[in-house]
Amino acid sequence: MIGNEEAAMDTGGGTSPSEHQSATMCPGCGLPRVHRSRRKGFTERVFAFAGAKWSRCHSCDLRFARLMKSTIYADDARRALRRVAVLLLLMIAGALFVLGVMIWIMQRQAAFPST
Ligand SMILES: [Zn+2]
Repeated sequence: MIGNEEAAMDTGGGTSPSEHQSATMCPGCGLPRVHRSRRKGFTERVFAFAGAKWSRCHSCDLRFARLMKSTIYADDARRALRRVAVLLLLMIAGALFVLGVMIWIMQRQAAFPST
């Protein structure tokens, strides 16, 4: 008895030229061994909030996301977010410094009222 199931299973790897886009292709190695991954860490959560869908490749262990038809790599995302975080911290530090100077000037004026 030759099983029919083997023949049926063979059709799974059939070629469908159009419409079968690289939705589940790894941008690193090109293999379709990509799994939808849960977002890990702060960076990936931020990007997921923006609509990114995180995936992980099982053959080269690359983490990447799809956002607005472009591919984001986890490493790039982390680097970009760190740059934004540093910029934000500098802005906050600057604002606090200006605020501190303003308070200092106001207190000085209160301590030495003009006579
Ligand atoms: Zn890969």
